[in-house]
Amino acid sequence: GRLGIRVKGSPFAKRQTSGFDKYVGKLRPIIECLEAIPCNPCETSCPFGAITVGKNINNIPVIDYSKCSGCGICATSCPGLAIFMFKENEDGTCSIGIPYEFLPFPSKGEYVTARGRNGEFLCSARVERVTRSPNNTNLVYINVSAGAASDVRSILVTSEDAKAIVCRCEEVSVDQIRKAIKEGYTDFEELRRYLRISMGPCGGRTCRLNTLMILSKETGIPIEKLSPGIFRPPAVPVSFRAIAESRDDDCEE
Ligand code: SF4
Ligand code: SF4
Repeated sequence: GRLGIRVKGSPFAKRQTSGFDKYVGKLRPIIECLEAIPCNPCETSCPFGAITVGKNINNIPVIDYSKCSGCGICATSCPGLAIFMFKENEDGTCSIGIPYEFLPFPSKGEYVTARGRNGEFLCSARVERVTRSPNNTNLVYINVSAGAASDVRSILVTSEDAKAIVCRCEEVSVDQIRKAIKEGYTDFEELRRYLRISMGPCGGRTCRLNTLMILSKETGIPIEKLSPGIFRPPAVPVSFRAIAESRDDDCEE
């Protein structure tokens, strides 16, 4: 069947999707620019004049798909990463071009994690191709099922470095966490007690989220459904001298 797209939470979804059916199956940009902000590189970058912001630079952009060639220049020119490329495929999957400015940069054929608007885990996705842009806002095209396509808005490319340290205080590596998950420690609290993650002085400021991301990827459970474990205040090392001096103060009273 023909595939449509929901533009969730977008007050101008109707304006953008008018005559939308005609362009189903063609590569085209989807603009999710929700705020009236003084910005218009989408308009000025399009070589075909397909996007209009207009005289008032605070206007929300409107796209005319009849003029669009699907070149993707607008998506790499938007400073807010509010434009992504979209295409419904014959096999029922969708191709989505995600603007991506981070490292490591994924390569064709690699699998990445597809994420929703709030960073939540959606599915694993194969990278179809990557297009580099001189301004380093590159496009990573991923292939996802039609069911997930409306919600995918970002990707997570995990470092392949298994020796990378996740918990700096206790020196726990990515590899150790993956191994523990495979052994059956599939809850943050279990991992914490087993590997001492987040038990160091920082109280889990960095490692908690990183561990939850690994746990989400390895188990397929969305990160928001995982328990973040117990939070404790950061510990500060105290010298015996400081304690002794404190006792002196008490004695004087
Ligand atoms: S994809 Fe290319 S042609 Fe289409 S609106 Fe963007 S810049 Fe213009
Ligand atoms: S360039 Fe991006 S953020 Fe700026 S108006 Fe266009 S879509 Fe919105």
